Amino acid sequence: MSELGTEANPLRVAIIGSGPSGFYAADPLLKQTDLVIQVDMYDRLPTPYGLVRGGVAPDHPKIKSVSKVYDKTAANPNFRFYGNVELGKDISHEELKQHYHAIVYAVGSQTDRRLGIPGEDLHGSYPATEFVAWYNAHPDFCHLTFDLSQESVAVIGNGNVAMDVVRILASSYEELRQTDIADYALEALRNSKVKDIYMLGRRGPAQAAFTNPELKEFGELAEADVVISPEAAAADAVSRAALDANPDSAVEKNLKVMAEYAQRPLSGKPKRIHMIFLVSPTEIEGENDHVTAIKLVENQLQAGSDGSLKARATDKTFTLPVGLVFRSIGYMGVPLEGIPFDQRSATIPNAQGRVIDPETKTPVVGEYVVGWIKRGPSGIIGTNRPDSVETVEKLLEDVPTLSALDPTQASRESMEALIKSRQPDYVTYEDWLLLDQIERENGQLQNRPRIKFSRIEDMLVALKKVKSSQVSNPVS
Ligand code: NAP
Repeated sequence: MSELGTEANPLRVAIIGSGPSGFYAADPLLKQTDLVIQVDMYDRLPTPYGLVRGGVAPDHPKIKSVSKVYDKTAANPNFRFYGNVELGKDISHEELKQHYHAIVYAVGSQTDRRLGIPGEDLHGSYPATEFVAWYNAHPDFCHLTFDLSQESVAVIGNGNVAMDVVRILASSYEELRQTDIADYALEALRNSKVKDIYMLGRRGPAQAAFTNPELKEFGELAEADVVISPEAAAADAVSRAALDANPDSAVEKNLKVMAEYAQRPLSGKPKRIHMIFLVSPTEIEGENDHVTAIKLVENQLQAGSDGSLKARATDKTFTLPVGLVFRSIGYMGVPLEGIPFDQRSATIPNAQGRVIDPETKTPVVGEYVVGWIKRGPSGIIGTNRPDSVETVEKLLEDVPTLSALDPTQASRESMEALIKSRQPDYVTYEDWLLLDQIERENGQLQNRPRIKFSRIEDMLVALKKVKSSQVSNPVS
């Protein structure tokens, strides 16, 4: 057998998941000049880009334009995309091991963290992650409905996902129409009766996880005022002392914007975003199985053993009447069959990206991890680039060990034959580019950036149609 990483015996790498971390792993692998590496990327959806398509808010097109970088990676002749192919359903972990020298898990954090309070599962209480996936036309969530006939809504959490949810709820039809929001969501939000949106943070304004550009966007909405009292907008004494000891310009910028909101007179816009800090939900109350209110306890900040300021409940409680609750307290990873998983951190245990066997504490040869399932759900899209590069460096260091793996069927042809037999409707990158073009053309007709497909069946039908027309009208 020729040396691994040559034309005759390419290093075969499978990447599971086509979000940013997957593409940031594929790119440096494909750019190796002294090794021939074939990268096959899998996604259970027919569409690539992960949270760039299914998570980033529709009114943030600049952030989404990062996908152009991924298209460049995908144009490398040693890259293949197998969309609509699910690990554990269409192909097994064992089969991957027979066909690849290395497997990189880039599956992200696919569920939400839970509050663990009574009433969490009442009708009208939803994980923000579901609402986000719904308005972004994710096929698994497009069938959901949210009761937008409610006038008062609580959004729990102070991260950027909570900001996105609040902003989408507070946006006008005209603002949303200019985005690629799912068409059914645009229609539902057009008819929304939501007026008061309460954004609830368990710590203070100085500890908020949201970032300054998102905070500033609140103040620019056509149909919503920001309601915050000067007391709520200011850092409390403990936070001020901590900030004086360890200055943080990002926090100071946020405080400045909130102080400005507190001074702004309300302009009488039809919707209001109420920013409320230092409160924790203790119960979601309901009648006839439907949310009617949220019970809150007031918190104060205390230094924890690690020096960070933690929320501690006081004995003061109050109840906020709301008909809808979005819980936005973070995403969480889910285990993959046959792959180690650490329940506590909800990640795949790893050392700098090498998957670690929890029993032996040694690396599992040929298995790697990148992105949120490696480090937890934190950071912006760009955070994934150095994270993936670190993993790729370890993978490349391991090439001598990977040579010894000698997978029995390490060829593209044999893997493709297996995929075809299991999932004849797999979607290639060329197919995705056709879908992308159709979405954009449909968007143009309505003066929108694109009309997203949300149902997998519709994507497959559209692809068949356009491909059969290409066959009957070949470009000469
Ligand atoms: P996040 O940034 O980790 O924020 C989670 C929020 O939930 C925090 O405010 C946290 O408060 C709060 N929380 C956690 N447990 C809670 C509990 N039991 N009760 C009440 N509140 C609780 O998570 P995320 O908003 O899901 O965002 C995930 C990542 O994606 C972040 O890195 C985010 O920046 C990124 N993202 C970026 C953008 C963007 O760049 N535009 C958009 C969306 C998401 P504590 O601070 O007190 O723990």
